[in-house]
Amino acid sequence: MSRSAHPAGPRHADVFPEGHYSAPPADLNALHPKVWAHTVTRNTDGVLTVGGVDVAALAEEHGTPAYILDEADFRERARAWRTAFGADADVFYAGKAFLSRAVVRWLHEEGLNLDVCSGGELATALSAGMPADRIAFHGNNKSVEEIHRAIDAGVGRIVLDSFQEIVRVAHVAQSLGKRQRVQIRITVGVEAHTHEFIATAHEDQKFGIPLAGGQAAEAVRRALQLDGLELIGLHSHIGSQIFDMSGFEVAAHRVVGLLKDIRDEHGVELPEIDLGGGLGIAYTSDDDPREPHEIAKALTEIVTRECEGARLRTPRISVEPGRAIVGPTAFTLYEVGTIKPLDGLRTYVSVDGGMSDNIRTALYDAEYSVALVSRTSDAAPMLARVVGKHCESGDIVVKDAFLPSDLAPGDLIAVTATGAYCRSMASNYNHVLRPPVVAVREGESRVIVRRETEEDLLRLDVG
Ligand SMILES: *Cc1c(COP(=O)(O)O)cnc(C)c1O
Repeated sequence: MSRSAHPAGPRHADVFPEGHYSAPPADLNALHPKVWAHTVTRNTDGVLTVGGVDVAALAEEHGTPAYILDEADFRERARAWRTAFGADADVFYAGKAFLSRAVVRWLHEEGLNLDVCSGGELATALSAGMPADRIAFHGNNKSVEEIHRAIDAGVGRIVLDSFQEIVRVAHVAQSLGKRQRVQIRITVGVEAHTHEFIATAHEDQKFGIPLAGGQAAEAVRRALQLDGLELIGLHSHIGSQIFDMSGFEVAAHRVVGLLKDIRDEHGVELPEIDLGGGLGIAYTSDDDPREPHEIAKALTEIVTRECEGARLRTPRISVEPGRAIVGPTAFTLYEVGTIKPLDGLRTYVSVDGGMSDNIRTALYDAEYSVALVSRTSDAAPMLARVVGKHCESGDIVVKDAFLPSDLAPGDLIAVTATGAYCRSMASNYNHVLRPPVVAVREGESRVIVRRETEEDLLRLDVG
């Protein structure tokens, strides 16, 4: 971005430089319900509260930055997905979005299953008591050791992602005297994005076995021949942060097409189909996500219609939402450190975290909403950029945001909808310590993942 495009000069209060943002909201103190966890509100002093606990008390007790997670909201969203899909379908929470033992217990209690994609995620799930048969194991390069652990533990399914893996999983299962339930992940040539989908040329990626050129059909042939495998179905995952159902429609059409070919060639009707995850959430008030019951209805209708067309029994459907369950349930609480107004441009607001606790802005150009939460303010809006404390100019948390122009060091601000892919992607860049995850519920707060300490850092450094 070139500075010269915005020559420095006196800034008019109501003129802002160009950028990806809409006009300042009418009321900077308002909390848009779409982007905040369900129990979030402001108390009579104007301080944001969540789960009945105010953020000043949370900052006092747990420090900043911290991820604050609304447990009731998490459970409610998990339950809404479970209820929407009913007894004839399975909901697997995608653990990579955010996984901890408390989360595993909540999921277990709410009747959800769990996707893992590494030995570490598997260990977390098992150690928190998730029954192995409710775990699905994913990944494009599972090690033989991971496969061994998964089969030995008795995971409900392994999603096969390559020809090598078909053979590896079969061998390991046989060596353990088991027959492993598996699905084959196929690449249907559809990639869905937030507001569109593209139905060509997206087989150029590392996941899955392409439908094109008969590769997926060949994978099915091989899997059906191996004694160590029980092929229970096909799997497709088309993308992330999706609002438009048409990508799922094309994917389901193609997956069911292969189910039909399998029936015609082998005389077997595979009993399951997994349509993956990827359902979008509201990061800003412009985003308009669908409710789980609408998604369940749409997906069930699509699969049923396709199967009727192909004269197949409708298979048991499973889905794998990650972001849609945990994303909206948490926000990151930061303390404002320094404030730099750049004339004619914007004001840089530095917080006590940054790209180490939220890499998504740098990685995907993600958009977020942010608010002053330790008080309300009637000051005019200023165009701000919320940045971190790292040695990187791309260390941006919120690229364009309006905050009150009386913002001051020591104020608390919250970046919302950071429940998914923030703590799980957190790093130690600059030896910054990873923030805790604090669950709040009914007036109580509880650390579910503690803050990293310098001792933790030094323990790994054994030179
Ligand atoms: C990442 C992933 C998901 C979850 O995606 P969300 O966008 O968090 O819903 C589900 N299934 C598979 C196979 C994935 O890789």
